[in-house]
Amino acid sequence: MDHLSEVRVPDLGTDDSVDVVEVLVAAGDQIALEDSLITLESDKASMDVPSPVAGKVRELKVKRGDTITQGSLILLMEVTEEAASEFLEMPSESAGSATRDESSAHFSAEPSAAERIDPAASVSPASATAAETYDTDLVVIGAGVGGYTAAFRAADLGLRVTLIERYPVLGGVCLNVGCIPSKALLHVAEVVHEAGALAEHGVSFGPPEVDLDRLRSWKTEVVGRLTGGLRALAKRRNVRVVEGTAQFAGPHEIEIDGSDELQKLSFAQATIAAGSRVVKIPGVPYDDPRVMDSTDALELAETPESLLLVGGGIIGLEMAMVYGALGTKLTVVELLDGLIPGCDRDLVKPLEKRLRKDLDAEIHLGTKVAAIESSEAGLIATLVGPDSSKSSTFDRALIAVGRRPNGDLLNAGAAGVAVDERGFIAVDRSQRTNQPHIYAIGDIVGEPMLAHKAAHQAKVAAENAAGEKSAFDARAIPSVAYTDPEIAWVGLSELEARETGTSYEKAVFPWSASGRSLGMGRTDGRTKLLFDPETKRLLGAGIVGPGAGDLISEIALAIEMDCEATDLALTIHPHPTVSETIGFAAEAFEGTITDLYLPKRR
Ligand code: FAD
Repeated sequence: MDHLSEVRVPDLGTDDSVDVVEVLVAAGDQIALEDSLITLESDKASMDVPSPVAGKVRELKVKRGDTITQGSLILLMEVTEEAASEFLEMPSESAGSATRDESSAHFSAEPSAAERIDPAASVSPASATAAETYDTDLVVIGAGVGGYTAAFRAADLGLRVTLIERYPVLGGVCLNVGCIPSKALLHVAEVVHEAGALAEHGVSFGPPEVDLDRLRSWKTEVVGRLTGGLRALAKRRNVRVVEGTAQFAGPHEIEIDGSDELQKLSFAQATIAAGSRVVKIPGVPYDDPRVMDSTDALELAETPESLLLVGGGIIGLEMAMVYGALGTKLTVVELLDGLIPGCDRDLVKPLEKRLRKDLDAEIHLGTKVAAIESSEAGLIATLVGPDSSKSSTFDRALIAVGRRPNGDLLNAGAAGVAVDERGFIAVDRSQRTNQPHIYAIGDIVGEPMLAHKAAHQAKVAAENAAGEKSAFDARAIPSVAYTDPEIAWVGLSELEARETGTSYEKAVFPWSASGRSLGMGRTDGRTKLLFDPETKRLLGAGIVGPGAGDLISEIALAIEMDCEATDLALTIHPHPTVSETIGFAAEAFEGTITDLYLPKRR
């Protein structure tokens, strides 16, 4: 050890100062390359700073609680002459962080067949062959929840990653025009409703005054904070982000149509995370700006007096709640005979009641919107119901009849990846497509089209790409409608049990018997658990009521852990909370409940 090297804070993707929340090494410690030195925390993320060089810590220059910026000196390290020269040769951006250098990665013509490597040989992040032969170890198409998660996890596991996104912002549907902006607006809708409901308890406010511009910019700010954070996280990991539309040009080659030129990129492995788009129906004048999809509806261009919602699924009903809270008169038209098809009817009932009673919504079930015509007075819709048909005029229409996968837009055949006629890409448990070096995740691989499913599949794909053995083997994926009341379900539903002939026993705890929900003035909820009659194991659950989406996580864990009714009944839930209703429902099944009187079951 005959050289002394300065180890500094690497490029953080921001000039803002960050806090040192942990110092993980001490003077005299022997450090290996990439060992974590300190943990930093900003308002967006926390991160460990890995050592860019192996050696022995001579002197620490930071302590817990310090505030530092990129370039700040962390410590002095005694290093060997050889290590010192390697360290100094690193490009400056990565010298402080010891992360891989992507700055030399370049776009080039397709490598010759001789240069190509067997994909199986490239799965190790340490594979020098992959690094030398291809522009990137892993290319990820699409920077939605699935894509950025896959890219970040793969980079953390040591792969050189290129993330391609056709839009200038990262985050895909969920962050930009899905989960996040809709929930921000739904929060406002819920508070408006709650505030109005207080009149019954003696506290009245006047009718809400809505400043649409402020509401819109608050929503945009929420989205911006998250998507901006993603850029910094990508940079911090040396994930190369390329803006442009990607299409396969061969089994190891992709073409990127960006703003400047068409680029080609060769890759050892790929992950397809190109998501989905809205389904369009015939007979609708989509060029009329009063006809909206969910993205348009989130823009809140105005508060229309009347809104026709075509499709009574989760996405449409969530938006309906927002417009309803802002004072719009709602008409919901659903082709099937119930709202939120696929969800148990007893869970949907309180929502339907609230829509009809509190929001004065008209709901037409088993009804088709045969056509919509533009006129000066509004949009004239022809509704064909089971017994009659009628025309009505609306200020705006929101078409929310589902989403379809983007598998048909990628020229996947050039890479030999099979895409079915609907645009889905089939994968195995390791998220591999029919091409073992190409993975697919998220909406593009099938239902349920949910962000949390995409993120979990993304990690599985990334881990396999990095040479680990990983499988998507979730027993249950929770679904949530963030309506008011919220509806959440996971595992077996009664509808599914009937369809598949699965035997089950049910236990229900009505929220009207919960002290907490009485105090909240919300007695319309219920918690329902389904058990295996033989083993008493939990098979599934459904909850309706405020906060149901948060409550369902306990059930998802219980299903993953193979819990029996006793496990839930004997878990002490805090009092008074609505989470108790889960324990009470299990007690009801066990026959030990005292908060309800139930005739003896057995
Ligand atoms: P996406 O988010 O669709 O991302 C795909 C990305 O790929 C996009 O950024 C796209 O631009 C890009 N892309 C596509 N093709 C190419 C190409 N050829 N080249 C380059 N880039 C390309 N889910 C929940 O779990 N909870 C919710 O509360 C929820 N709310 C929602 C509300 C709304 C209004 C909507 C529309 C959806 C909601 N979802 C929700 C669903 C959720 O948004 C999706 O399941 C999730 O976004 C899927 O992630 P993904 O990564 O598979 O795809």
